Amino acid sequence: MTLSTDTRALSPAVATRLALPPHVFIDGQALPALSGQTLPVLDPADGHRIGTAACGDAADVDRAVRAARRAFDPASEWRTLTPIERGKVLHRIGDAILDHADEFAELEVLDAGKVRAAARGIDVDFAARSFHYFAGWPTKIVGSTVPTSHPGVHIATEKDPVGVVGAITAWNFPLLLCGWKLAPALAAGCTIVLKPSEETPHSALWLAELAVEAGLPAGVLNVVPGRGQEAGQALVDHPGVDKITFTGSTAVGKEIARRAADQVKRVTLELGGKSANIIFADADLDAAVAGSAGGLFWHSGQTCSAPSRLYVHRSVHDQVVERLHGIADGLRPGHGLDEGTELGPLVNASQKAKVGQHVSLAVEQGASVHVGPDVSADGFFHPATIISDARDDMACATEEIFGPVLTVLPFDDTDEVLRRADDSEYGLAAGIWTRDVSLAHRATRALRAGTVYVNGWGLTDPAAPFGGYRQSGYGRDLGPDSLEGYLETKSVWTFHG
Ligand code: NDP
Repeated sequence: MTLSTDTRALSPAVATRLALPPHVFIDGQALPALSGQTLPVLDPADGHRIGTAACGDAADVDRAVRAARRAFDPASEWRTLTPIERGKVLHRIGDAILDHADEFAELEVLDAGKVRAAARGIDVDFAARSFHYFAGWPTKIVGSTVPTSHPGVHIATEKDPVGVVGAITAWNFPLLLCGWKLAPALAAGCTIVLKPSEETPHSALWLAELAVEAGLPAGVLNVVPGRGQEAGQALVDHPGVDKITFTGSTAVGKEIARRAADQVKRVTLELGGKSANIIFADADLDAAVAGSAGGLFWHSGQTCSAPSRLYVHRSVHDQVVERLHGIADGLRPGHGLDEGTELGPLVNASQKAKVGQHVSLAVEQGASVHVGPDVSADGFFHPATIISDARDDMACATEEIFGPVLTVLPFDDTDEVLRRADDSEYGLAAGIWTRDVSLAHRATRALRAGTVYVNGWGLTDPAAPFGGYRQSGYGRDLGPDSLEGYLETKSVWTFHG
């Protein structure tokens, strides 16, 4: 199979976006990075350069934070908007995403190596829904009155926006994560500096422009693409930033938490996972196998909540493994813009190398490996892979691989599997497949993870909190819980004399 973006007709809007001069977006304006430095952006499906991004650094971050601070002034246009008006702006941003849904999907395919249907149906749709969901919140952020034994005193609490938010996002869901991070922050009344992944800057920059067109005052949302070690670190260290919200690796999340602690900055971390998924003997195997494989293989396993550790009751283990082999064999890899593609590439060469090393190590350690069809091309593909005959202590069963690699482990007994499933440094998601309601309740109580799925996998909803236990992070994205992360509580005491 040959692949080439050159032969694909891009929509005019996407071609225009990709041809724009490299820029940061600060105070409502597209500007070159102060240093003039740039970074290439590659199509992961064929390794071709599709664009050039500005490589912002500490000086650009400083400009952006100053703009965000001005926009956060109590007398600013943004801070004096009524909650109803703030909600309307969010709603219009959601509408703007949907107005350009097909083009956003195309950009996500080219930047992040997604498959078009998933990019359109999941990433773009969810980003829009996040803005639409949080558009309803500004009018519902309320304080309370406090019963007091002090005579002549009235105490009330008010909810204040936390201030300037530094958002740092990963390459696996560039636009969707904008919805997860920006929508609640804006609903709370914050202002933002966003550093998207250097691999996937285009959708965030476009969204920021559309947001201004939708009525967001200049300076409320600023975007500085650049390297994590420079722009990302500068954002974490900047004294003008009140809170950091981050999605990415556990290693970088720890580093951010350490640095943010110096200024006692608020931090929300959505980090890695090695999510356990358990198929009990009584499960509907058709649904369990299809759901488990689908949950793992979509976006080629590059999802933080991928069910990459599959425990299967020994009585059905071999037939489940055989069916999984069939699914891996049937998944069609290719460019995400091509009709019929089911498995896209990994995001870059180093992710491809990392995933390959994990599979080689599993083989060296004695596991069995089954691989589906590969693509011979310059892109960063890894075939769908099923690892069996593995042990719980192997790296393939403990470490986040972030590729289309599923490790299958047999079990005999419920207590045993719940203990093994929970024996992880992560706790992002977990799943069980069973027809037994009592077992389902027992397992969901036992499994220590931020999301637990029963007889399904992978749905998310703007109203449902998402986040991790243990080293999968702290704080929550989405739902009312995420809003709390962008608010401070102030007690106001009034003395009546
Ligand atoms: P990182 O955690 O390195 O990157 C996530 C974001 O953080 C990017 O915007 C990155 O910038 C930025 N960043 C990197 N270093 C710093 C720093 N010191 N200070 C502030 N920001 C920083 O993830 P990778 O992209 O390197 O992926 C590595 C592994 O992380 C994957 O293999 C996977 O296991 C895991 N991962 C998990 C994700 C999840 O959803 N939980 C998402 C992505 C990755 P830059 O653009 O330079 O990379």
